[in-house]
Amino acid sequence: MTETSIPVRTCVGCRERVPVTELLRVVARDGILVPDPRRRLPGRGASLHPTPECLHAAVRRRAFPRALRCSAPVEAGPLRAHVLGTPSAAAPGSVPDGQRP
Ligand SMILES: [Zn+2]
Repeated sequence: MTETSIPVRTCVGCRERVPVTELLRVVARDGILVPDPRRRLPGRGASLHPTPECLHAAVRRRAFPRALRCSAPVEAGPLRAHVLGTPSAAAPGSVPDGQRP
C-alpha cells in the first residue's frame, strides 16, 4: 500500500518532473490557452509551474502546441494574465509585453 499516490507531471516550461499539485493544468480551447486550476476541463492538458519564468520558457520553445497536439499556434493571453495576476485591462501604462531581445 502506498500512502501517497500523487501523480507526477513534467512542467512544459522547465521540464522538471514534479507532483501535479505544484503545477497548473492548461488546456487549449479554440486555439486559446486556458488555465484550468481545478483540472476539470476535458481534453488534453499541459502542466506548467504557475510562474512567469516557466510560462515564458514554455511559450518561447513552443511547448504548448507540442504538448497539446495542436497544429496551429495558440494564444497565451488568458493564461499569461492568470499566471502574472494582471487582468489584461488593469495596468495602464505598464504593459509587460513588448520585451523583445
Ligand atoms: Zn517549471
